[in-house]
Amino acid sequence: MNKNNLNFIIVGASIAGCSAAIMLKKNGALVTIIERSESIDSYKKLCTHFIQPISTPILQEIGLLDFVKENGLKSKAKFYTPAGVIESSGPYSDKETSTESYAYNIERSVLDPELRKILLEHDIELKMNASFKEVTIAEDHCIVTIDDNGKNTKLECDVLIAADGRTSSVSKFCNFQQQEFQNDRLTIFAYFEGYPFGELETHQSHFVIDGNDMGFIYPLKKGKVLLSWYYDNKSENKPSNQEDRIKFILEKMSNAFPDFSFDSLKCISNVYGYNHFPNQLRNPISKNIALIGDACASVDPLSGVGCSMALKSASLLTEAYISFKQDGVSFLDEYLKKYQEEIMPHLNGIIADSRINYNQTKESIQKKYLPIIRDKSLRDDYLNLTGRLIYPKDFQKRYLFSSIKQSKTHI
Ligand SMILES: Cc1cc2nc3c(=O)[nH]c(=O)nc-3n(C[C@H](O)[C@H](O)[C@H](O)COP(=O)(O)OP(=O)(O)OC[C@H]3O[C@@H](n4cnc5c(N)ncnc54)[C@H](O)[C@@H]3O)c2cc1C
Repeated sequence: MNKNNLNFIIVGASIAGCSAAIMLKKNGALVTIIERSESIDSYKKLCTHFIQPISTPILQEIGLLDFVKENGLKSKAKFYTPAGVIESSGPYSDKETSTESYAYNIERSVLDPELRKILLEHDIELKMNASFKEVTIAEDHCIVTIDDNGKNTKLECDVLIAADGRTSSVSKFCNFQQQEFQNDRLTIFAYFEGYPFGELETHQSHFVIDGNDMGFIYPLKKGKVLLSWYYDNKSENKPSNQEDRIKFILEKMSNAFPDFSFDSLKCISNVYGYNHFPNQLRNPISKNIALIGDACASVDPLSGVGCSMALKSASLLTEAYISFKQDGVSFLDEYLKKYQEEIMPHLNGIIADSRINYNQTKESIQKKYLPIIRDKSLRDDYLNLTGRLIYPKDFQKRYLFSSIKQSKTHI
């Protein structure tokens, strides 16, 4: 790999693949992207559409930020814990980097087609109804066989990028090692209309911590709202039909948010969800192949970071490509290094949080959150942690420091 501009084939034209294609093309690469769905308007159904604030500069870079602002809702998390509420007014703001940003709630039915439109604006070759079949990896290039609208076609590239999601067929074909980590929760979610809380003006998404469960209220455009409930997948209380599931979500929400009234909400969709969703990690690289987005890491959706990490991995891959072109560093090794430094710390924290601690009590949860509730600066840090603007280890340090300080004042 010693050419100036590399030639990439990207498998999967969703959030990771499209953003990588756009950024690589902007930096001189030759890019072909293939997508197995037939329609340019196809989109991912299993998503609750919360894009964390860490994504803002990347959305800007790929030319999507204005669209997201216009077609999504500016949002910020508000947490309801047994010790009190964690919120802060204004945008997320990280005092160390002096950056200010918001999260966005934007439906994938709107976001995914727009990403593909941007590909076309950049003259990136997009093949729809084209699936990855196999790859032969030579010393300095790959021959990729695809099923292009029913016809087997061979394409050559320097690097193959797998952006084909959690079930990545590229990684399976290439025998990438996969690690799985238990996730103790399942989720169900549905869309409703008649959102009565008047929160659309303040653009808050509401997250409640209710024992081992968590409930989420995501306001969406056009007066819609998405309600999701995460709970123990060993629970015996699993509603089995659509009507019972809707009732279950609304009952849980009413109990967890006693100040809100859910009476006027009308369900306008199927109920979506999963029973079993182990955290899944794959090595980000092997010879002439890079994995990005869910193909590389697909972790507990409760954390709401999948889209942001898909964007981040695409951005790190592009940074590695720029270093390769400017300084001659090894492109894929550089990507691996950046991935381990900038993405893995977030994933490790999320994987740990996806286990249920059956020994915890309401009091122990209260005790855990109390230092955050009491300290304005720590509240900001907590929101920044969940928005992935700071790393878990930095939050832990600040939490420890503040807890010790507080224990000296609150005897
Ligand atoms: C219930 C649930 C809720 C979630 N909520 C959130 C949330 O609120 N916020 C958030 O940030 N994340 C959320 N996520 C995670 C988020 O949806 C994913 O992390 C994100 O979509 C990953 O993007 P991706 O581009 O890597 O993969 P995907 O979006 O899965 O895209 C993969 C693409 O590859 C294509 N493809 C697959 N195989 C082939 C092939 N062989 N050939 C060609 N094309 C192929 C697919 O058609 C698809 O377009 C949620 C996930 C779940 C399950």
